[in-house]
Amino acid sequence: MIAVISDIHGNLEALEAVLEDIRQEAADQIICLGDVVGYGADPNQCLEVIRNEAVATVLGNHDLAACDLKQADNFNEVARSAIRWTAEALTAANRTALAAHPYQFIEGDVHYVHASPDDPPAWHYILTEQEAWNAFEACEEPICFVGHSHVPLRVFLRGGRLEVIEEEVVDIRLDDRALINVGSVGQPRDGDWRASYNLFDPVTRRVVARRVEYDIDKASRKIRDAGLPEVLATRLTVGQ
Ligand code: ZN
Repeated sequence: MIAVISDIHGNLEALEAVLEDIRQEAADQIICLGDVVGYGADPNQCLEVIRNEAVATVLGNHDLAACDLKQADNFNEVARSAIRWTAEALTAANRTALAAHPYQFIEGDVHYVHASPDDPPAWHYILTEQEAWNAFEACEEPICFVGHSHVPLRVFLRGGRLEVIEEEVVDIRLDDRALINVGSVGQPRDGDWRASYNLFDPVTRRVVARRVEYDIDKASRKIRDAGLPEVLATRLTVGQ
C-alpha cells in the first residue's frame, strides 16, 4: 500500500500527524507530490522528514521558487513574501536537494506529478473539465496522482465520459482512467482544516481518502513567531 501525500508547505505538525496515520494504516511506501516548503514555518524539518520517509518526491512550484526566486514573480503578495522567508531559511544542503527533485515520477501504471502531466513546468491547475481532458490526453499511464490545488478531487474517465467520484473509498476498474488530487497535508483549501492524503493499493487499485487532525495551534504559533504573514496562520483554522 502506498501513501500519496502532497503540499506539506512547511507544516511539520500536519506532516507528523499524517505520518502517524500512515503507520497505523500500515502503508509501506510514501510518495510525495511536492510543495514540501512555502507558507509554513518548518521548511528544513519537513524536507528532512520527507527525505527519510518518502521513496520518491517530485518538484512543486513553491519548491522551485524557494530555490529560484524569479519563479515567484507571478505569486501573490503573501505567497511571495513567504517564499522569500523560506529561501532565506533553507540550509544550502536542503536547497540543493530540493532543486534536484524531478518534475514527475512514473511507476508501472501510475504517474505522479505536482500540478498536471500536461506540461508539468507550466503548473496547470486541473479545475475544469477541459483541464481534466488535457491532463488525460498528456498522460500515458491510466492512473495519475496530482496535488497543487489543495482541494481533493477524483475525476475518472469511464466509458468515454468524465465522472467526478465523491466517495471516500473507490476502486479503479481495469478499463478506467483516473486522475486523483490527494489534497494538501499542510494547507487544505476545501473548507476542512484536517490534513488530507490518499492511500493507494496498486494491486487492488483501491484508493482511500484520509483526513487527519493535527496540532493547528502549534503550527499557527510558529508561523506568527517566524514573522510570516498573519493570514497564513489564520487560514489553517478554516481550511482555506
Ligand atoms: Zn501547494
